[in-house]
Amino acid sequence: MTSIDTETEHQLPLILDEVEVVSVERLSPSFVRIELGGPGLAEFGVDGPVYDLRIKLVFPNDAGLLPSFEGADDSWWDTWLQIPEAERGHMRTYTVRDVRGDGADTRLVVDLVLHPADGEPGPGSTWAERAAPGDRVVVMAPRRGYEYGGIEFAPGTARELLLVADETAVPAVCSILEDLDRGARGVAFLEVPVTGDARALAAQVAPAGMQVVWLPRDGAPLGGLLDERVRRHLGVDEGDSTVADGDVDPDLWETPAYSSSGEDVDTPVATVGHDLDGLYAWIAGESKVVTGLRRLLVNELGVDRRQVAFMGYWRRGVAMRS
Ligand SMILES: Cc1cc2nc3c(=O)[nH]c(=O)nc-3n(C[C@H](O)[C@H](O)[C@H](O)COP(=O)(O)OP(=O)(O)OC[C@H]3O[C@@H](n4cnc5c(N)ncnc54)[C@H](O)[C@@H]3O)c2cc1C
Repeated sequence: MTSIDTETEHQLPLILDEVEVVSVERLSPSFVRIELGGPGLAEFGVDGPVYDLRIKLVFPNDAGLLPSFEGADDSWWDTWLQIPEAERGHMRTYTVRDVRGDGADTRLVVDLVLHPADGEPGPGSTWAERAAPGDRVVVMAPRRGYEYGGIEFAPGTARELLLVADETAVPAVCSILEDLDRGARGVAFLEVPVTGDARALAAQVAPAGMQVVWLPRDGAPLGGLLDERVRRHLGVDEGDSTVADGDVDPDLWETPAYSSSGEDVDTPVATVGHDLDGLYAWIAGESKVVTGLRRLLVNELGVDRRQVAFMGYWRRGVAMRS
């Protein structure tokens, strides 16, 4: 086992611990639901609803071994990166779809997409395909009582919600829908690979004022249905949001609090004063698709960047090494 040793015992402000697969459920053609448990999760917790809470999972290396983070200190990230790539395992980002149990029996539920390999097959998807009870991964998750910062959903006083997701962000939107106030209003457009996914997930709970629209691609281009439906929803009938590959930042992350392109997030923006003023949009998925939708909302429609969160969850052809 590859080990990260430190001389002093020190509690990290987050959980970084090995957990075990407690159950595996094949939800649909493209989704596997994994329940992860272990004594280290007893201290899991956030202040309020989990919404789109992200966590990191470290999958075993090709020899089936996990790095040990036992006794890790604040420099755990640099220490982990110093382990040769072939040995340190594979870290990827996922969403807490649900939290079950409590205390030492706390379990995190994660819905993983089984995606066709674009080039090299992804370690996350490959692991999920074969996962069985007893398998182990390392989880990085919030420790109760400490700042963690992994929740982006922040609608404030918005009157109308627009939630847009491809399959990788469907777990986040489903969790958000379950955590919303019962009086929430708006629409969620959810694009999934095939009709079988939409059928299996269609029973999703949501407030009565939230319309949930499942959009199975069934071979149509990635993001095309989302673009069409978002345009129609916002009253833009003409055009599409296609962007050139060279204009895509694989790590696109534009939220009211952070800008991956270096935009000024502190300067107040003049209120545009149009009928989208009460809107809050949360849009996540493949980076090129999300880039196009950002252009539509921010550049074409002039929506204030403080009302929108655009997040590239993955990039076609790029392994999302954390
Ligand atoms: C905040 C956040 C939350 C996320 N939550 C979830 C979640 O709950 N469930 C989930 O499944 N994913 C989620 N993702 C996306 C996930 O991290 C990426 O899809 C990641 O690339 C998967 O790792 P991998 O090892 O399977 O593939 P990688 O090794 O990263 O990539 C290998 C190849 O597969 C391609 N690829 C990656 N994902 C897909 C896909 N979905 N469809 C088609 N091709 C793909 C890549 O383009 C690359 O060519 C989240 C990402 C972020 C940033």
